[in-house]
Amino acid sequence: MSSLFRHIPSVDRFLHELEQDQSLAGLPRPLLKDLVGEFLDLCREEIRSGAIAAESDLTLPALCSRARAYVRFASRPHFRRVLNATGVVIHTNLGRSILADEAVQAVTLGCRHYSNLELALETGQRGSRYSHVEKLLCSLTGAEAGLVVNNNAAAVLLVLDTLAKGREVVVSRGQLVEIGGSFRIPEVMRKSGAVLREVGATNRTHLRDYEEAIGDETAMLMKVHTSNYRIIGFHKEVDAADLATLGRERGLPVFEDLGSGNLFDFSPYGFMPEPTVQQVLKCGVDVVSFSGDKLLGGPQAGIIVGRKEYIDRIKKNQLNRALRIDKMTLAALEATLRLYLDPELARRKVPTLAMITAGREELLARARRLRRRLSKDMAGLATVGVKPGFSRVGGGSFPEQDLPTSLVTVAPAAMDVEALRQGLLATDIPVIGRVEDGRFCLDPRTLMDEEFPLVAAAVRSVLVADAD
Ligand SMILES: *Cc1c(COP(=O)(O)O)cnc(C)c1O
Repeated sequence: MSSLFRHIPSVDRFLHELEQDQSLAGLPRPLLKDLVGEFLDLCREEIRSGAIAAESDLTLPALCSRARAYVRFASRPHFRRVLNATGVVIHTNLGRSILADEAVQAVTLGCRHYSNLELALETGQRGSRYSHVEKLLCSLTGAEAGLVVNNNAAAVLLVLDTLAKGREVVVSRGQLVEIGGSFRIPEVMRKSGAVLREVGATNRTHLRDYEEAIGDETAMLMKVHTSNYRIIGFHKEVDAADLATLGRERGLPVFEDLGSGNLFDFSPYGFMPEPTVQQVLKCGVDVVSFSGDKLLGGPQAGIIVGRKEYIDRIKKNQLNRALRIDKMTLAALEATLRLYLDPELARRKVPTLAMITAGREELLARARRLRRRLSKDMAGLATVGVKPGFSRVGGGSFPEQDLPTSLVTVAPAAMDVEALRQGLLATDIPVIGRVEDGRFCLDPRTLMDEEFPLVAAAVRSVLVADAD
């Protein structure tokens, strides 16, 4: 075995060979050298394991095409496009919401050219970056004022730090939630320097629990939207309106972390009632925060709206400077919010809304189209079908809501279905789907029609590679 190691061609010989390859042209030489080094480490590994056992397997011609494939694979950008066939619309692992074309164009424009990011064109003087979206946020939600920060976690931190640092915030025990990615209300509270005053029991909290907890140290009453789970059965939460009335009587601000925070009313589409941001503010809640990239369908951002006296204090907090959003986010957010001025336009153009509200017949027709695409050139490799199934909203929104859909199923003739799923993670544009009842399932809800040929090519390439 040890003599085999000596037969591995040198890095320089590989470099000389691969540098002739047009398809690898443009790769910086240091990167190419590193990747060849990694490839040769793999060869050494294979000698040790016995996978390479003959001198003839170690010649330059024998290894070159594998080396080329390895370099091509490993030199791809790390951050890549994928095809979301999971049917989970707001998929945190896959980038949550995708943007409307209008938002993408606004981002491109804002990045390619200089802009009036912090310039008031009326006066030629320094302006505020928040001015681009504040008026829109107010007219859409009915709020007096608003601002935007990096994400909703930052928004919650900033509100607590501004309005309750060193003092108590009263929260129902049933609302001390953890959101995926380790955002926990008690921990954020601690970081902000506010003191958590839990009230009620896990399943039930009454208005009198809040009343009894209010004292000299109380700074704020807080409600957290338990977006990602539901308590069913013997259960009670205090309404936003009742909490707002109590806050007003005692001279305390009331803050609600709405999580997803939709501006769009989904109830006509058969969804369980979820309050919109407008409705919550109308109840009298003073400050509301929510995400930009969950149900809103915009860029990652944390939006804070509410009464001017509180928003003004939040804007002046130094922490704000550390949590501020960049111009790409602002451009995307303004373009997304503008679509909401006409809710039906938003429903059609904001992909998150369009996917969530897609109708059953439409999904069935699209599933059939995807099946036809997949069935082409698939003879002998797999059986393709359509079956009823369910999609999910995701992002902790509408956690119990099953959205009826039609799934396209791929049952490989010879290949293990789990190997197919894995193989699809390694294609040029990876396809993310799930395995159910021994079949690979693709949900057309979260795929664009233009993506169907890409899905078909990827599935076919994995099946063909396995058959070879
Ligand atoms: C998602 C969520 C957050 C965190 O929002 P990000 O925009 O992901 O930072 C905070 N609170 C609630 C209730 C949420 O659902």
